[in-house]
Amino acid sequence: MYTDQRSNSGQEILSSIGEGRRFSGADWIRDQGLFPSPTYSEYFIHAHLPEEISGSVSPPLSDGDAIPEDILTPKLPSHYSPSQINMASDCGRKYYYEYILGIRHNKPNPFFILGSAADRTIEICLSNRSSDVLPSQIFQEELKKEMGGKDLTPDQKDKIDKQAISLEILLNNYLNLFIDYEPISFQRKMTLRIKGVGPIIFGYSDIIGKRDGKNLIIDIKTSGKQMSQPSPTHRTQMMFYCLSLMKMDKLTEIPDLELHYLVKTREPKINILKVDVRESDLYHLISSIREHHWRIQQGFYPLNRNSVWCSESGCDHYEKCHSDCSMTIENTMDQVIVEETT
Ligand code: SF4
Repeated sequence: MYTDQRSNSGQEILSSIGEGRRFSGADWIRDQGLFPSPTYSEYFIHAHLPEEISGSVSPPLSDGDAIPEDILTPKLPSHYSPSQINMASDCGRKYYYEYILGIRHNKPNPFFILGSAADRTIEICLSNRSSDVLPSQIFQEELKKEMGGKDLTPDQKDKIDKQAISLEILLNNYLNLFIDYEPISFQRKMTLRIKGVGPIIFGYSDIIGKRDGKNLIIDIKTSGKQMSQPSPTHRTQMMFYCLSLMKMDKLTEIPDLELHYLVKTREPKINILKVDVRESDLYHLISSIREHHWRIQQGFYPLNRNSVWCSESGCDHYEKCHSDCSMTIENTMDQVIVEETT
């Protein structure tokens, strides 16, 4: 038999915070004043209807811009994407700063610069296989374009120069030895709409192809270490492409999904990992998208100081987050209730 183990005082508190009515965790947290952002409660008390979620997003603020408080008006995202969903489930607060308040620092990132130049090189070489131009040459040109106009520090330039050498080797090897498929499209826009979720979800898949007549989705990743299995974020991204391709192209069979890692270790390696997807995984993806939408409807953006990215170098919002979300030890202790013992 089920017995209610809660003490009287615990039950009183639960009923005072809404046991007698249907309440959401976000309502309660907000009522307790635990969301320090002053703009939060003003805009996010009520759930927003899907029609209200329209493209009203301001351009991101760039690094170095002063951020006047009155500009930080929360706005709902006009669309979702696999990377948004991954970010919100890793740290809701970071998502809130980037996608709801629109604070993006747009700092140049050597990792993304190299990755984009590598993606472009593969696309150019596979689109024109009869060309005599070497992949390393195309890569150098694309790298120059990617770096153009970006304010890179000497340290960042040095990092790019060093890693570019291993990427040139990796790209030559990949394009000469690993193309056992027929590419059909590059950077295809993959879209989805889920019933009950207002905004459209979209992302861009690197390569859609065919191998032995079977549909294939490939994503190229550059990595600093050997991978033995796909990371959860990469899996989510691939499952999204899979579901989207199946719906858009009316496929009845789950396509093959592969992550092709260009590993920039001292001895560069190419790591091909298959992403196994079952029907139950696709169901999981749909529930993750619904959960993401629910969080936004409720205005539920919990911080996660246990995130691997939660550090001064890993999170652009570290300083703001630590100034917005902190309490004196006295206030913290005030949140804690001592259980009466009899
Ligand atoms: S500092 Fe940490 S908790 Fe705050 S937004 Fe960044 S990752 Fe999230």
